[in-house]
Amino acid sequence: MILLKSAKELAEFIQQARSNKRSIGFVPTMGALHKGHLSLIDRSRLQTGLTVCSIFVNPTQFNNPEDFKKYPVTIETDIDMLEEHGCDLLFLPRVDEIYIPGTETIHYDLGYLETVLEAAYRPGHFQGVCQVVDRLLQIVDPDILYLGQKDLQQCMVIKKLTELKRFQTNLIICPTLREVDGLAMSSRNKRLNEVERNTAVLIYETLLKIKHALRTGSLQELKQNAINNLTGEGFKVDYVEIADADTLELQTEWDGKKNIVALIAAYINDVRLIDNMLLN
Ligand code: AMP
Repeated sequence: MILLKSAKELAEFIQQARSNKRSIGFVPTMGALHKGHLSLIDRSRLQTGLTVCSIFVNPTQFNNPEDFKKYPVTIETDIDMLEEHGCDLLFLPRVDEIYIPGTETIHYDLGYLETVLEAAYRPGHFQGVCQVVDRLLQIVDPDILYLGQKDLQQCMVIKKLTELKRFQTNLIICPTLREVDGLAMSSRNKRLNEVERNTAVLIYETLLKIKHALRTGSLQELKQNAINNLTGEGFKVDYVEIADADTLELQTEWDGKKNIVALIAAYINDVRLIDNMLLN
């Protein structure tokens, strides 16, 4: 695997690959890699001629400085895992390669997506995501960008970004990889102690319960029961919501036909976890 830290070198490498008619697949990450990330690498390897992964813990997408400080960094094992999975190139940029000193900060008009769910609880988060993904897409210019459904709202934000900036990149949203008991794999799981880890699975179980109990009509009781259950088990719940799976518009009722998704964000002590599940 080739490891590059300079945007200029990466852009040159990609240009060379393109002139050799290799299609480019791209998996942006913040490192502390797990099997979920690697499933995106595997998918890219199957579908494209050159798989590029980036690891950049983006300071501007952390609205909470403590969360940024405690974000796990495991670069040596990350490199080993990427090599084992046949990733072709790892881009490890310095902060000044992404945030070029002296350039103005762009504001991205994300509309409704910046008013709900993650955006409402993490102000500025998606502007930070867009800043880094915009820059990465300019450098890598991939044919296909691989994203995880675990971060569904982020997928929609990045789709909006590609439309706003007219990137030609196709988006592929890959399913959420889970631990054996159902807990969504996440870099933040590394911060859970054994007791917290065992409690964390309740987020997945709550999503399943919502899915099984879903009926047409009002969704309020379903959501409230889920919040009560999680709170009773010691979680601090940011939200349990049910939304239109295509637009993320929050739903209070279900007509039995619309594609809907349940989304949860909750803290176990100071670790914030998110997950979602399509309900029909
Ligand atoms: P992150 O390093 O958390 O920024 O994630 C990098 C990419 O991996 C994003 O597109 C995530 O949605 C995706 N991802 C994270 N966790 C999982 C998972 N459990 N299954 C599949 N994809 C995931």
